[in-house]
Amino acid sequence: MKAITSIAGSAPLRDDADEPIAAILKVLGEGERFLVCSHAGPDGDAVGSMLAMGMLLKRMGKHADMVSADRVPIVFRALPGADRIQTAMRVHGPYDAVILLECDGVERTRLQGLESFFHINIDHHASGVAFADLNWIDREAACVGEMVYRLFRSAGVALTPEAASCIYTTVLTDTGGFVYGGTRASTFELARELVAAGADPIRIAQQVYFSTPISKLLLLGAALKNLHREGRVAWLWISQEDMIRSCAVEEDCEGIVNYALSTAEVEVAAFLRELEEKRVRVSLRSKGRVNVAAIAGRLGGGGHENAAGCTLDGPLSRAKEQIVEELRAALACARERSEGRNLIA
Ligand code: 5GP
Ligand code: MN
Repeated sequence: MKAITSIAGSAPLRDDADEPIAAILKVLGEGERFLVCSHAGPDGDAVGSMLAMGMLLKRMGKHADMVSADRVPIVFRALPGADRIQTAMRVHGPYDAVILLECDGVERTRLQGLESFFHINIDHHASGVAFADLNWIDREAACVGEMVYRLFRSAGVALTPEAASCIYTTVLTDTGGFVYGGTRASTFELARELVAAGADPIRIAQQVYFSTPISKLLLLGAALKNLHREGRVAWLWISQEDMIRSCAVEEDCEGIVNYALSTAEVEVAAFLRELEEKRVRVSLRSKGRVNVAAIAGRLGGGGHENAAGCTLDGPLSRAKEQIVEELRAALACARERSEGRNLIA
């Protein structure tokens, strides 16, 4: 089959993604069995878009398996069908195609056994890569769930309240509650349609934001003790010992980086977590001028301009120095650029 690649910036309700959408729907229409997966350590967009994609396939009369290398975080387990997402290290076919959501390569799934299948890549990251047989990358989509919504529309499949709830969760979480860059009029238009189709915004928000396990609060306390600021750069971290003492799991780290970004002075922030195998997981955030996807990309990771991540070699102290230096340099560059612009103006 001919590989189709579309890497576009487009508002969600415009139709300039016709070609990749038609190509994807053709593959879905012709096949019978599909595998739906996303990145390891799934977040709200990964879980919600996998579930919605599975529902779309089912409504099209197809068989869909959903597999993740890591378990579904507790806050997303109440989503309809979440218990159907299997946790596995290796997948076994036969599948007519594998749909990879939010991934810049097969490796990001951390699943084995995917190599031989036909790959469909649906992504919205700034660092998105056309690695698959069929690629649809829309860097302006607020979340991959929004792209799955467009597939529903183009396939002429009505949204059930269950699918609307899953997609609403992707919009809510990937925009940080309609806060991050990428939140535009069309995002609210989409949210309105999803609520009209049966998503309950209050119940979903309570499930996502008011179901925090105690382990996460303990971990946050430990991280805040390690909060440092230097001018417009802030960083905080947790060690393996902090993880153990708090009885925390990986998903408890989600969102901690935002506390470093939450004061008015700070423009870029990093959260570092020591991993068991002496590597260090890094989350980067920026309020605007600094493109953290570019920094993460140089260090082997990726993400969005304002939210990105990567994994570095330890020890933690060295990773901290490395990342703070990167942020200082990026901020200095951004400052120079904006001062230059002011001079011209
Ligand atoms: P987080 O800091 O919440 O783990 O990730 C922020 C954003 O960057 C998410 O959109 C996530 O998918 C992306 N991201 C985080 N780590 C990596 C990575 O190692 N590789 C790539 N390609 N993207 C990442
Ligand atoms: Mn996403």
